[in-house]
Amino acid sequence: MPKQIPSVTISRLVGYLRVLTNLEQSGVDYVTSEELGAASHVSAHQVRKDLVHAEASGTRGRGYTVAILRRELNALLGLTRDWNVAIVGMGRLGQALVDYPYFQNYNFRLCCGFDTDAQKVGKEFGELPVYHMSELEQRVKERRLDIAFLTVPVAAAQPAAETLVEAGIRGILNFTPTVLKVPGGVRVESIDFVAGLKRLAYYLHPRD
Ligand code: NAD
Repeated sequence: MPKQIPSVTISRLVGYLRVLTNLEQSGVDYVTSEELGAASHVSAHQVRKDLVHAEASGTRGRGYTVAILRRELNALLGLTRDWNVAIVGMGRLGQALVDYPYFQNYNFRLCCGFDTDAQKVGKEFGELPVYHMSELEQRVKERRLDIAFLTVPVAAAQPAAETLVEAGIRGILNFTPTVLKVPGGVRVESIDFVAGLKRLAYYLHPRD
């Protein structure tokens, strides 16, 4: 099995990919590690070290070919295949995510939603069908679901995560403030607005 790349490196690689996508859209053909580093707030040395994971090679002076590096990073990050996504919890946040189509540009296909509320089950939000949680296992297989956005109330977060894992979901994007316990082989990425606010408070707070 190939060596696992550290999580902080993955975050930087995702950042480089964002910069490369913008460069390509602006018609830029080449980028140096200095330029990529400046746009990503890391050193050129760090960029070169990170890009070894993508087996990327640049030319002295001219740097990396933007289109090739973008392709290599996409391949490394697993973004050359489609990922089927479900939203679990079709409340305010779940519905807002249906209206945010941009992640679909990156091979993430929003397939369906799940809820326990009879008012929502059987309805469509946008064009997204909503199923009852009791159908999860069947629908995961049928629709080949890989990833779930978890947008249920706090009290339901851990039990819902366990149901997801039992149904075969291996990736959870957790929007709840709950620290989820999941078995090995399942990956949780948490989106924590309040943690971001607390970090802002630290930087804005006057101190001697
Ligand atoms: P909400 O109450 O509007 O929606 C929650 C939905 O989950 C409801 O439709 C409910 O029927 C459903 N649900 C409840 N138990 C379930 C279960 N076991 N399985 C499947 N569905 C279930 O809540 P919200 O405001 O959308 O917030 C959802 C989560 O996201 C919360 O944990 C909240 O802390 C977090 N969050 C919300 C916001 C926001 O702006 N609304 C922002 C950051 C984080």
